[in-house]
Amino acid sequence: MNHPIETITSPSNPLIKSLKSLERKKGRSETGLFLAEGARLVEQGLEQGWKAETLVITATMAERPHLAALAKRASAAGARVVLAPERLMSKVTHKDNAQSVIASFHQQHRPLDALTKTGDGIWIALYEVRDPGNLGTILRTADCAGASGVVLLETCCDPYSFETVRASMGSIFDMPFANASFDAFNSWRQAQGLSLTAASVNGTARHDKAPFGARSVIIMGNEQAGLPEAIEAQCDTLALIPMRGGADSLNLAQATAIMTYEAWRQRDFT
Ligand code: SAM
Repeated sequence: MNHPIETITSPSNPLIKSLKSLERKKGRSETGLFLAEGARLVEQGLEQGWKAETLVITATMAERPHLAALAKRASAAGARVVLAPERLMSKVTHKDNAQSVIASFHQQHRPLDALTKTGDGIWIALYEVRDPGNLGTILRTADCAGASGVVLLETCCDPYSFETVRASMGSIFDMPFANASFDAFNSWRQAQGLSLTAASVNGTARHDKAPFGARSVIIMGNEQAGLPEAIEAQCDTLALIPMRGGADSLNLAQATAIMTYEAWRQRDFT
């Protein structure tokens, strides 16, 4: 590598401590940072214009051409680039086989208006999603289905947790999302002329017969309690995904995928 690189070896180095602190919500809130693991993910973040604070590369891998190129790119974008032994990478990520690259990025907090878009589109609203793995999986699904945005309603889990970022497989960088109260969201979607279809175990329309429309929001309920009645009452359609067998509901992320792909299928996957 022909650009300045520091090497750190001590677990008590302040940088390692501060990266480790990103595991907890408190550490992320105090710094406004979050952690992304793996060269592909970090590349995706930089590609999408997210600002990296620090890039750490496993020292023994640093000469690999794609990692050297990544270091150069991150450094040019203003990130601090350091080398560290694998055991320190594992310490930060709590993984025995840690990725050879980790990076801290600055969080982005978009207003709801940033999700406004003209033309056809599918938006996904999640009411009080609490499981970080579900949230990451849903961001990935929304990205795959070309959704226009994801709205996190009321008190949701942190989109910047390790688990969510991991489960999103990079979609955290690609899929716009915003936090909002239900009331603010509902005014916003009415002003945009977006229909509101709830996925609900109380649904009266079968999901593949529900008229999503060309511009629609799919709203999903909390993992335990589903959607409050007051919110279901404000929806245009309550859609039920048929079930048989003993379980009383599908997993939230799976139900979201079924609904989103159905809405897209109704638009002939265009
Ligand atoms: N006991 C909860 C309830 O009464 O809604 C179950 C919640 S479920 C795990 C989480 C969310 O996934 C639901 O609020 C709903 O949005 C969606 N969901 C799960 N199974 C569904 C189904 N068969 N039809 C429609 N939506 C479903």
